[in-house]
Amino acid sequence: MTTPGINSDPNDGEKLDAVIIGAGFSGLYQLHLLREKLGKKVKVLEAAAEVGGTWYWNRYPGARCDSESHTYCYYFTDELLKEWQWSERYPGQEEILRYLNFCADRLDLRRSIYFNERVCSAVWKDQQNQWHVKTENGRTIDSKYLITAVGCLSSTNIPNFENFNSFNGDFYHTGEWPHDGVDFSNKVVAIIGTGSTGIQAIPVIAKTAKKLTVLQRTPNYSVPARNAPLPQNHHVEFCNEIDSWRSKMSVSRHGHPWTAPPKKLCETSKKERDEILETGWQVGGLRFRESFDDILTDEKSNRIMSDFIRKKIKETINDAEVAKTLLPHDHPFGTKRPPIDTEYFETFNRDNVTLVDIKNNPVKSLNPDGITLESGDRIQADIIVFATGFDAMTGSLLKLGIVGRKNLTLAEAWQNGPRTFLGLGTNGFPNLFMITGPGSPSVLTNMPRAIEQHVEWITNCMNHCDEIGAMTIEAENTAMLNWTDHVTAVANQTLLPKANHSWYFGGNIPGKPRTFMPYSAGLDKFRSNCEQIAKSGYKGFKITQ
Ligand code: NAP
Repeated sequence: MTTPGINSDPNDGEKLDAVIIGAGFSGLYQLHLLREKLGKKVKVLEAAAEVGGTWYWNRYPGARCDSESHTYCYYFTDELLKEWQWSERYPGQEEILRYLNFCADRLDLRRSIYFNERVCSAVWKDQQNQWHVKTENGRTIDSKYLITAVGCLSSTNIPNFENFNSFNGDFYHTGEWPHDGVDFSNKVVAIIGTGSTGIQAIPVIAKTAKKLTVLQRTPNYSVPARNAPLPQNHHVEFCNEIDSWRSKMSVSRHGHPWTAPPKKLCETSKKERDEILETGWQVGGLRFRESFDDILTDEKSNRIMSDFIRKKIKETINDAEVAKTLLPHDHPFGTKRPPIDTEYFETFNRDNVTLVDIKNNPVKSLNPDGITLESGDRIQADIIVFATGFDAMTGSLLKLGIVGRKNLTLAEAWQNGPRTFLGLGTNGFPNLFMITGPGSPSVLTNMPRAIEQHVEWITNCMNHCDEIGAMTIEAENTAMLNWTDHVTAVANQTLLPKANHSWYFGGNIPGKPRTFMPYSAGLDKFRSNCEQIAKSGYKGFKITQ
């Protein structure tokens, strides 16, 4: 499991066909295809000591995937699917990390990965038609192609509170969790953030901490995950139905094996819709949202569904004031990434848990003993947990120090928001491919499905370039601008802009340009779009020979 990556002299200035940055789901599959299918000289540069990407870093208590186990894995070969047996309906962080290590072993990937190598710059050299990539350790690589596989949610966001360093206790961001864990027993803990992460962590931390204070800025909707061990015969049955699972996911909007029936909530009688919603609630997880197909397009339908969830929250909480504070009102359900939970709302009935509303009384600063609010109130803490999210979709890309033609940095090119063609390429940056970049469906889908689609497209595209003897391939400016406008237009046809403070818009990071970043028309539509572009000889990309 812990076979180290390859070792070579970092100062060698290695020459490669392709460099991949990141050894998570996307980087590992891209490495496999480029090495085994195209026979490329390719290496992965990975900042961490091991494979896993987001599942290597996010080890906070309760970390678990919201996609169901047998859908949250590679589907490009039946062998891996048959050999790996999941234990629960939703895979926990530790199990996913083991799975990715298993894949790395089976596919013999580690020999092509440099671990503990954080990329600090990648500069396009026009004369040589190649990327010059450098790591913080001084390793340099020249490569024809640069492929980013850095994930959409990996650049952590810790708010810059006043007097941060005055705090005498320990603090942790959930996305950079210590590998040997954190002992909360007998500790007074404060947690900031009630997104998907906070909602997973809070119930688990509450079980061991002496006292837990939850600082909530925006109340959130959450649906019970209803996690459970998978039945004993599940794996055998699944193995007999792999083709069916694969084809269902390939035609679905979100890359999950289910899709909303063609039924509008607002046109369904109260009796019937209540039954459907209750059934969906009992099934739990992200399937609940798919009870009707107009939740993200019809305000009235969304309001009814949102009311249903609010009623469930009220029924769960013993204290009416606490319940009121927990009720989400500022955005329609599903317009921010919908969390799913295990006993989240129930946790606020515990004696050792206190909810503090920081919407109108925000955190002002840290102090030696904890947190000070604008009102002057103080919250004592031995440990502060920041479940405050990420500089999503662009943060990790911009940290790579990418410089394209004419010395244009990616940060300059995207100063008004990311602009891509299909989320895959961006003008001014030849031979750069981004896996699940902004402008692709990525975070609105079951990620491995979006990743496989992008990785396979990139591989076919590089193969095409080889066949025609191409030196460079680059997104055309017009195609990129049209696509970026299309991404915005498609989002505007939905209720998603009603939550423009969400990380989908960059609204969670002060000063970040507001632009809807993921492609919301569905993975199915996106896939056929990409296929048509490939069939047309990669229209929208400029290829030089
Ligand atoms: P998030 O959704 O961005 O939530 C961050 C939380 O921190 C929000 O409650 C936010 O409040 C709060 N916050 C941020 N800055 C703050 C500040 N300065 N003061 C007070 N509160 C502040 O981040 P996340 O929960 O880590 O989730 C990010 C994404 O990761 C998810 O949406 C999901 O896509 C993915 N994820 C997936 C899973 C899974 O599959 N199981 C698990 C965890 C995360 P506001 O809402 O007011 O901004």
